[in-house]
Amino acid sequence: MKLFLDRNKTLLPRLDSIYLLARLGVLVIYALYIFDHGLDIQDPLLFYTILISFVIHLTIFFYANKGLFDIKLAYLSSIVIDILVVPTMVIQSGGLDSSFYLMFLITISVAAYVLRFWLAAATIFLIIGVYLVSIYSSLNITCLFDVSLRTGMFIVSFLAISYISDYMRRSERRLLHLFDTLNLRTSELERFQGQMEMVYANMRHLSTILEPESVVKEMTKILGSILDYPNHAIIFQDKTDGFVYRVRSMNGSTNFGIKSVDIEQFNLVKMVCELDEPVRILDTKKQHDYNTLVEGTQSAMVVPMNSHGRIKGVVTVESDALKAFTERDLQTLSTVARSAAMALENAELHKQTEELTIIDDLTGAYNYRYFIRKFEEEKRRAGRYNLPLSMIMVDIDWFKKFNDTYGHEKGNLLLKHLAEVIKSSIRDVDIFSRYGGEEFVVILPQTQQDEAFVIGERIRERVELSSVVTDNERLGITVSVGVSSFPENGHTQEELISVADRALYQAKDKGRNHVCVI
Ligand code: GH3
Ligand code: MG
Ligand code: MG
Repeated sequence: MKLFLDRNKTLLPRLDSIYLLARLGVLVIYALYIFDHGLDIQDPLLFYTILISFVIHLTIFFYANKGLFDIKLAYLSSIVIDILVVPTMVIQSGGLDSSFYLMFLITISVAAYVLRFWLAAATIFLIIGVYLVSIYSSLNITCLFDVSLRTGMFIVSFLAISYISDYMRRSERRLLHLFDTLNLRTSELERFQGQMEMVYANMRHLSTILEPESVVKEMTKILGSILDYPNHAIIFQDKTDGFVYRVRSMNGSTNFGIKSVDIEQFNLVKMVCELDEPVRILDTKKQHDYNTLVEGTQSAMVVPMNSHGRIKGVVTVESDALKAFTERDLQTLSTVARSAAMALENAELHKQTEELTIIDDLTGAYNYRYFIRKFEEEKRRAGRYNLPLSMIMVDIDWFKKFNDTYGHEKGNLLLKHLAEVIKSSIRDVDIFSRYGGEEFVVILPQTQQDEAFVIGERIRERVELSSVVTDNERLGITVSVGVSSFPENGHTQEELISVADRALYQAKDKGRNHVCVI
C-alpha cells in the first residue's frame, strides 16, 4: 500500500530543504519561548524533553535529506512529533489563548502535499481532535466562534493545498506523458533517419552494380542488415508467368537457391504484381492467399519490384509480431524494391549488351576478342596460383573443298553443328571461342597436357562419328586438333597460341583427323 505520493519522477518542487528550514524556524520559536519564559513554565523537564526530541528529529531529517535513509520516514516522524509536541506547547502556554496552534498549519500543509489524500484527511482530523483536547479545559460557549474559525482554517488549508497539489500532479502527469511520447517519437525518427541514410547510400551503390547476382546480394544486405528484417524473400516472375524464390532469408540465414513459390502464396503475389500495389498484412492468419516463409509469422509486407512499368517480382518481409509494420515501413520497402528492380534491369541490360559484343552470331561461341581477354586472365591466375592451364585449337579438315562441294550455306550449318559437338564435349568452366573462320579454341583451366589431349581426342572422335542430315544428305567432317599447355609450352599467350598452331599443323601433316601435342 502506498502512503506517499510518488517522489521519484516529478517536476514539482521537492520540499525537503524548504521544510527543514521551516522546522528550524519552529525550533528557534520553541527555544525562544522556553528561554523567554524561563522559570515561569510549569514543567521545565517536559519542555527540555520536547526541545531535545525536536533537535533529534531535525538531525534525522537533515541526514534523510542528504539521502542517507528514506526521507518519507522523516516526514512521517515530523508529523507524529507535531501531533505530540504542538498540543503540549498549547496546553503549557495557555490553551485557547496560545498561538502555538499555528504550528499545525505547517504540519497540515506538508501532510496535504506529501501524503495520499485519505491519509492526509485522517491526519487533519487527528490534528483537530488533539487540538480540541488540548484546549478542552478553556472551552466555553463564547469561544465557540474562535475554535470554529481555527479548525475551519485547518480544513480549508488542507483542502486548498491538496486540491492545488493534486491539480499540479495531474498536469505534471500529462506533461511527463507528453515528454515520454516526444522522446519516443524523437528516437523513432532518429532511428528512421539513420536507417534512411544507410538505405540511400546503399541504393546509390545498387545502381552502380553491373552484375544481376550482385544486385540480389546487395538487396539482401539492405533488407537484412540495414532495415533489420531477418525474415524476407525476393520472388521473381519466371518466363512462364509463374514465380520462383530467388532469395529466402529465414531468421538471418540466407539461401540464394532458386525454388518455386507455394501455390497458396501465388494469388497474393500475382495480385501485387498485377495491380503494382504493395500490401501490408496485419494478421497473416486472416490472409489465406499468403503462405508464410517462417513459422510463427504474424504480419508481413509484400511489395512489387517495378522498373519502368515492368514488374520483375516482389519482395516479402515477415515479423512474428501482430501489426508489426507501419505505413512508413511499407513506403520505405517500396522505395528499396523499386530501386532494386531498376538496378537489376540495368545490370541485366549491361550483361545482355556485353554478351552481344562477345558472342559469335553464327555459332554462339565466344568471339576472338573475348578469347584473348579470358586467356590472359586465366594464364595470369594459373601463374599466380601455380596451376596448370591448357588450350586446344580445332580446325576443320578440307573445309574449302566442303564449301565448294556443298555450298557456303551448308558449310555454315556444319560450323554450327561442330560448335555444338565441341560444347557438349567440354566442362562448364572451359571457355569455348571461335578463333576465326573454321578454327575454334578451348581454354581449359586447371588442366594438364595429358588431360587436354584426352579432351582433344574426345572432340575429334565425336566430330568424326557425328553428321548433319540436310536435304536427305548425311554430311560429315573431320577435325585436326593441336594442344598446348602452360607452363611446359611457354609462358606468354603468344607462345601458347603459336605452339597450339604448330601442333595443329603437325596433325594436318599426319594426314588430318589427328590430335597432336608438342
Ligand atoms: P585444311 O585441312 O588444311 O584446314 O584445309 P582447309 O580447306 O580447311 O583449309 P583452310 O583451313 O585454309 O580453309 C579455310 C576455309 O574455311 C576457307 C573458307 O571457305 C572456309 N570458311 C571460313 N569461314 C567460314 C564461314 O564462316 N562459313 C563457311 N561456310 N566457310 C568458312
Ligand atoms: Mg583453317
Ligand atoms: Mg581447315
